[in-house]
Amino acid sequence: MLDHFTHTPRVAYLSMEIAFHEDLPTYSGGLGVLAGDSMLSAADLDLPMVGVTLVSREGYFRQHLDSDGCQTESPETWDPSQYATRLPAKTSIQLQGETVWIGAWLYELKGHMNGCIPIILLDTFVEGNSADNQALTHHLYGGDARYRLKQEALLGIGGERMLRALGFTIFRYHMNEGHSALLISELLKQYRFSSENMRNSEHSSDIPRVKRLCCFTTHTPVDAGHDRFDYAMVEAVLGEEVDLNTVKKLAGSECLNMTQLALNGSQYINGVAKKHADVSRDMFPGYRIHAITNGVHPHRWVSPSLAEVLDTYLPGWCHEPELLRNVDGIPNDALWQAHQLAKKSLISHIQEQQKTTLQLELPILGFARRMTSYKRADLLFSDIDRLVQIAERYPFQIVLGGKAHPQDHEGKHLIQQLHIVAKTVKNVLPVVFLENYDIAQARQLIGGCDIWLNTPLRPYEASGTSGMKASINGIANLSVLDGWWIEGCVEGKTGWAIGGVSPSENGNDALSLYQKLEQQVLPMYYDRKLDWVQMMKTCIQKNGTYFNSHRMMRRYVCEAYL
Ligand SMILES: *Cc1c(COP(=O)(O)O)cnc(C)c1O
Repeated sequence: MLDHFTHTPRVAYLSMEIAFHEDLPTYSGGLGVLAGDSMLSAADLDLPMVGVTLVSREGYFRQHLDSDGCQTESPETWDPSQYATRLPAKTSIQLQGETVWIGAWLYELKGHMNGCIPIILLDTFVEGNSADNQALTHHLYGGDARYRLKQEALLGIGGERMLRALGFTIFRYHMNEGHSALLISELLKQYRFSSENMRNSEHSSDIPRVKRLCCFTTHTPVDAGHDRFDYAMVEAVLGEEVDLNTVKKLAGSECLNMTQLALNGSQYINGVAKKHADVSRDMFPGYRIHAITNGVHPHRWVSPSLAEVLDTYLPGWCHEPELLRNVDGIPNDALWQAHQLAKKSLISHIQEQQKTTLQLELPILGFARRMTSYKRADLLFSDIDRLVQIAERYPFQIVLGGKAHPQDHEGKHLIQQLHIVAKTVKNVLPVVFLENYDIAQARQLIGGCDIWLNTPLRPYEASGTSGMKASINGIANLSVLDGWWIEGCVEGKTGWAIGGVSPSENGNDALSLYQKLEQQVLPMYYDRKLDWVQMMKTCIQKNGTYFNSHRMMRRYVCEAYL
């Protein structure tokens, strides 16, 4: 069944979350969507890769919001047998003194041009495991630190064992974020085993050999965001599965720092935007850190109505996004009508979900992403009187969305605050909060709004990808200069910057946001329609051609894999 995949040596791409199918809840946010877009492009470009992730049968979670914006969660259960094929192979790992059996599913990710990438879904819900161990691959980012460590061991160690059991030949490993870094310990163990048999060599000489095999992409410019595990727990959970002395050398003597392990075990290291690579170099002095700016998958993210227009005027664009450079040849009216169709589709989606009617003629400002504090979803509402004044002068509408991690009380509180504000301003300014923000809703919202807002606290937005999705749809960004937007912003042409690049400007962003909205964005929408449509074209032309995952994967191939 796997023969046509295993006969070519491949790059293994390990990620705790991969959004490989838009209906399946195997992701929590940007990291998983990026992993999915990466695999989609790999399939389109027919790259020899294999994705490895956990099956996450109960997903991240489904978000429920009551009328006050109080979030509750329920499992988002999916049945792998409906989408994937059970593979006969089995492997195991010792966790807390128990043998945990690991099974696997094969999901065949098909690209546009007959390419196909195998995605291996690791699953401990198999016979022979205790009920607790069967649940280890159920909840993405669920449970406590011990559960997380076990999941990360399943991904890094179990993933490598499964690839071997299935007969894959891997010439490069790509760790997407540090969750899979125990892979390094497993590869070292294998080398040691083979070298002890042959020449009884010194262990540390194996590190360069393992390093040559590994690439690591870091995504977290916040120190607290890096997984750290207590060595007492590591010893209790992993016991003989890892050589603690070696791990301590690579991952830090105080605690198991997954990022440090990945940094020390990888030949090629990169950040996900130029600025993020700079920030990472400061965080991790002494490492050579490259920059490969993220991208989004053209066909996944362009709205159906715009895709139809692009197919007509720029055939081949979704395989070769560089062709979008000729977007000027599309009649203004065709582009505008395509956008209006996407907007109508968003408006009817909102009508169904929320029983609120938005107006096609009025601009829609969109903001949706994980509700975590550095994203500052409340910045737009920091001066409500001012916001209402602007809306009285230039009417507009706001659509919000996003999940808070079940244990993030601050994030949950933020969602409630946003609901309170929505009620306060509703007579002048309609504000809608979409429930259960996911890929399907992101597509509707980003393609259907007129302005895409992002207001992160510098320098915490490593890249940000939803703004790229907006650009490739011809939607202008209004964003804080951080992450990818530093590279993508051409003021007044692809959107507008809020503030400058320095973190010292974080405190002035609300003022800058209101000024831009009132003096530039909304006046252009109402009074200079032609300029607005030209701006839509410039977004596609300058940013769609560049911030796409085809370009990104080609760079990974040239700079990291080969
Ligand atoms: C793209 C996307 C994200 C990431 O958005 P950012 O702008 O990077 O925060 C999160 N969730 C979903 C569902 C997405 O599609």
